Amino acid sequence: MKNLIYDTPEHKVVFFEELTPASAVQSNQALIIHRGEGMLLDPGGHKVFSKLISDISLYIPPNRIKYIFLSHQDPDIVASINGWLMTTEAVAYVSKLWTRFIYHFGLDSQFEDRVMPMDDGGTRITLGGDCQLLILPAHFLHSEGNFQVYDPCSKILFSGDLGASLGQDYFFVENFEEHIKYMEGFHRRYMVSNKILRFWANMVRQLDIEMIVPQHGAIFRGKDMVNRFINWLENLEVGVDLMTQEKYKIPL
Ligand code: FE
Repeated sequence: MKNLIYDTPEHKVVFFEELTPASAVQSNQALIIHRGEGMLLDPGGHKVFSKLISDISLYIPPNRIKYIFLSHQDPDIVASINGWLMTTEAVAYVSKLWTRFIYHFGLDSQFEDRVMPMDDGGTRITLGGDCQLLILPAHFLHSEGNFQVYDPCSKILFSGDLGASLGQDYFFVENFEEHIKYMEGFHRRYMVSNKILRFWANMVRQLDIEMIVPQHGAIFRGKDMVNRFINWLENLEVGVDLMTQEKYKIPL
């Protein structure tokens, strides 16, 4: 099926890129399935919810979703969380910095016990008995309490807002240099500092990555493209690196 970006009998990764309404920022959702158990990543907002739940049903009964991963607190990640907790038996993982904030998206207090606050160091979550997913610290990329998921069974890194691209009309990056223009503005403004990008690069270089899947826009496929992306970020000045006193003036 067209949404499968990794497909073996035991392990599948389903990628949804076409569910966001036109006026909203394009957002990707992903589902990791291992031996019939699912983890849903960054499910998104209310308008995505009903389409996503029916698309997911083609691959797995929604009640087989065991985990919901929330990379950070933004509405395009979390807004539909109450619906997901109502229609599944999943537990949701989010940074401990955000657990009390996400109630403002309408999360009912009866689901309190199913929201798992994560400490800064991240964690490991076992899916389907023997696939151990790594929840990696990615704080300040861009949110203050931010995580990414590495799936060692597919060798895919789910990078959240890092690697986001906006405005391109393809879903696999073919030419990295040409792709930079769709990422650069977003990264320079939303990512916090080059120091953080270097910490991140040092961490992810220790992983065997075949694909990087961001939460917006196109996928980086193959080791060469993955390395180009990591090298680009490692040398990029962003966020506070680019701020000057000139930008902090009382408006006329
Ligand atoms: Fe965000």
